[in-house]
Amino acid sequence: MKRFRQASWDEPLISELSTPGRIGMTVPTDPAVRRRFRDPTSLVPASLRRKSVKLPELSELQVLRHFNRLSQMNFSVELGMYPLGSCTMKYNPKVSEMVASSDGMKQAHPLQPAETVQGILSIFYELERYLSEITGMYRFSLSTAAGAQGEFAGVLMIRKYLDDHGGKERDEILVPDSAHGTNPASAAMAGFKVVKVPSDANGQVRAETVKGLCSERTAGMMFTVPNTLGLFEGEVAEVSRAVHLAGGLMYYDGANMNALLGRARPGDMGFDIVHLNLHKTFATPHGGGGPGAGPVGVTRKLAEYLPVPVVAKGKAGYSLDYALKHTIGPLKGFVGNSAVLLRAYVYIRLLGASGLADVSSMAVLAANYLWKSLDPEAYPPSHGKELRRKHEAVVSVKSELPGAALTVAKAVLDYGMHAPTVYFPLIVHEALMIEPTESEPVEMLDEYAAALNDIYRRMKEGSLGEVPKNTSVGKVDEVKASHPMTLRVHW
Ligand SMILES: *Cc1c(COP(=O)(O)O)cnc(C)c1O
Repeated sequence: MKRFRQASWDEPLISELSTPGRIGMTVPTDPAVRRRFRDPTSLVPASLRRKSVKLPELSELQVLRHFNRLSQMNFSVELGMYPLGSCTMKYNPKVSEMVASSDGMKQAHPLQPAETVQGILSIFYELERYLSEITGMYRFSLSTAAGAQGEFAGVLMIRKYLDDHGGKERDEILVPDSAHGTNPASAAMAGFKVVKVPSDANGQVRAETVKGLCSERTAGMMFTVPNTLGLFEGEVAEVSRAVHLAGGLMYYDGANMNALLGRARPGDMGFDIVHLNLHKTFATPHGGGGPGAGPVGVTRKLAEYLPVPVVAKGKAGYSLDYALKHTIGPLKGFVGNSAVLLRAYVYIRLLGASGLADVSSMAVLAANYLWKSLDPEAYPPSHGKELRRKHEAVVSVKSELPGAALTVAKAVLDYGMHAPTVYFPLIVHEALMIEPTESEPVEMLDEYAAALNDIYRRMKEGSLGEVPKNTSVGKVDEVKASHPMTLRVHW
């Protein structure tokens, strides 16, 4: 029996709940405030006023119920386990949120003179130093707003650096076949030709393969380590050497740094450029499209190429520096998404160096524990059975039925938990990509593995039926969902 009426897709619009004359606000008693309150439009010049705004008329309780019910249609890390591979849906500590929403932060305006925002600028300056230390880079620009934008900044820097150093004709970027789709997209947007690097049977990029693909056309390589299969690339140092020898630059996709934090640095593996996803590894709530931060870091020889502004420290204090000599220019307004940057700063200060190393230990332990708890007959590993997983594990659902991974993903929703990423990386048949992160207690990992094993058993004996059953929205008709599409705005 249902304890309460669950929100559903055909929830009435708030305007449909409206009753003329019903009022949901408390009118202040002070006559001056009251005068304004009765007619708030009097603050707006008459010429700009609309004749009728047609606001819905409801009681306070009706409004509360409406929005609370809609909020039940959401899923979040704070409701249940959310092991969406490659997305690092970790717990975002509330203390970061408190600092990010403190008054001083909320009131700050990007056009304020630098001398009035020295505090926040000093925080960004320190954050840049921390990120440089964590990755082994020389300098970071914090402005880029997402991983993909960090990548784009990175490949633009490769283009400009090569143009300045006799490499104008270099127009190829190597990208492994296991890469995130944003890698080839960023390279193509910057005008490069994308050369696909095939992984071997163990899901690894071999230095020999890379050597064979390098030429005088090579501008660089975009490399994700650990890769999207959750595996460390054992030949990364040799791969870097090969690309450098050929005259190219090495780009590190650090969207998911969870496995390396405090333990290994891309700078020490030979990378020249790095981006980090602060909204993933450094704990900002994400999903649903933002806001994020994808700062981009470089070695010394590329420091003047960074996107501007960067935070500078001089005799007169901190300021935003727009005058880097070879900069690719600004890619985003001002210093970037400052609340995301501030949360990352708090997260790093909260954990300290040893805490960050604990994060990677726990993230790797959780991924391996969960992976080993799965029925290997049902969910065989896609690659490198003998290799230890890093931040995530990719398995292939063993089934003759097409769409088996999708069915498992839909079914797991009925257990009150989020699905893994499905059908990615593209080189894995019926892929489930599972990234539990360091924040899940072992009981949750057990529960998740038990759910997946149970789902497979039910699927095999044919008793699964239509899934999901317990969610506000059932399985959507993928065809009807896009054609014809009817959008309803719930406000
Ligand atoms: C998430 C991710 C990206 C893209 O990051 P966005 O912030 O979504 O643009 C790039 N590469 C990898 C490996 C990722 O997991």
